[in-house]
Amino acid sequence: MNYEDPIFKYRVAFNPNTGVYIRTSVLGPDGQQTEIEPFRGEFPHLLDVGIMGHCKHGLSGKCEQSGVECYQTGNRKFEPHMTFEHFKSLIDQCRGRTFQIALGGRGDPDQHPDFMKMIKYARENDVVPNFTTSGFGLDVNILADVKKYCGAVAVSHYKSNYTQRAIQALLSHGIKTNIHFVLSNSSIDEAIEWIENKKIPSGINRVIFLLHKPVGNGQMSNTLRFNSPKVKRFYSLFNQEENCQVAGFDTCTAPALIHYAPRIQKAAYDTCEGGRYSAYVTPDFKLLPCSFDAEQNFAVDLKENTVEAAFNSIEFDCYRMRFEGYDHPEKCATCSDVELCKGGCPLMKSIVICDAFEQAV
Ligand code: SF4
Ligand code: SF4
Repeated sequence: MNYEDPIFKYRVAFNPNTGVYIRTSVLGPDGQQTEIEPFRGEFPHLLDVGIMGHCKHGLSGKCEQSGVECYQTGNRKFEPHMTFEHFKSLIDQCRGRTFQIALGGRGDPDQHPDFMKMIKYARENDVVPNFTTSGFGLDVNILADVKKYCGAVAVSHYKSNYTQRAIQALLSHGIKTNIHFVLSNSSIDEAIEWIENKKIPSGINRVIFLLHKPVGNGQMSNTLRFNSPKVKRFYSLFNQEENCQVAGFDTCTAPALIHYAPRIQKAAYDTCEGGRYSAYVTPDFKLLPCSFDAEQNFAVDLKENTVEAAFNSIEFDCYRMRFEGYDHPEKCATCSDVELCKGGCPLMKSIVICDAFEQAV
């Protein structure tokens, strides 16, 4: 699939079979590439879609038992799931402009009553669905269709038999499978061991290390800090090419890698894309720049606005202003990596792993 952004003038290509996604730089008047990196899209290229309003496993404490502090507070909040009608309206608006969606929300998306209908509808309309699951209630009978319709599946690292069972079942169906590993003060020793001692389960595409955030049930005391020797040791491991080949990171991690893994080529970086190329849709059908905006400070109701109007709204513009230096420490203004990093997370200073933010928290 190819697409040219009509407002910001660059091209995007996406391969739905491999997930490869490429953006050009901003195009000049004759269509030639310039040195200017585009800042945003006129429409999100990737959407996180919170189809789950509540989590039956959360109520039985599955996340707590595994040590993951659910940022969606799945064990305390109970809202209706997203309806198929809302989901269908979303896909109809996204067709040809959004390449992929990541299904999630408060619980395992494979437990949504219309899950199969949703992934089929998305794929048939050229939007590739992906999803994350704990694997607890995953029905192996749906996996042939998951293989047919989905791009990749991520299994959350819940350190349980059901995690292992889900990984094996997905791999045996030939499904591209990642592990989502929430990196916090309580899990970083295990993460170091996985990389240093090459303990990543075989057959896995990548282990994606996601930064723990002090949102929902997430504790501030579990948030990684720049000056921690373990944080330095972990991220420094990615100066070795072989370690980069088995791991991936959320874009929130960019400042940490910039500091501790300087051998990674600058061209490989994508910093926070929230509100620039991606956004989150809540189960009750609001658009947020990022799923971690738990207070919904930048929410726009999709029952009253199109996705396009919401993505180009004043609320989203206010959020995007934060990339442009609003409220950043002075050090960002003179930092040689500011183009790459854009000052880190626009929502929470506390997760930016950079010495500039050590005093700001
Ligand atoms: S000083 Fe600011 S721009 Fe530079 S790496 Fe740190 S957070 Fe990013
Ligand atoms: S807004 Fe913050 S939490 Fe959300 S993707 Fe960006 S860096 Fe991560």
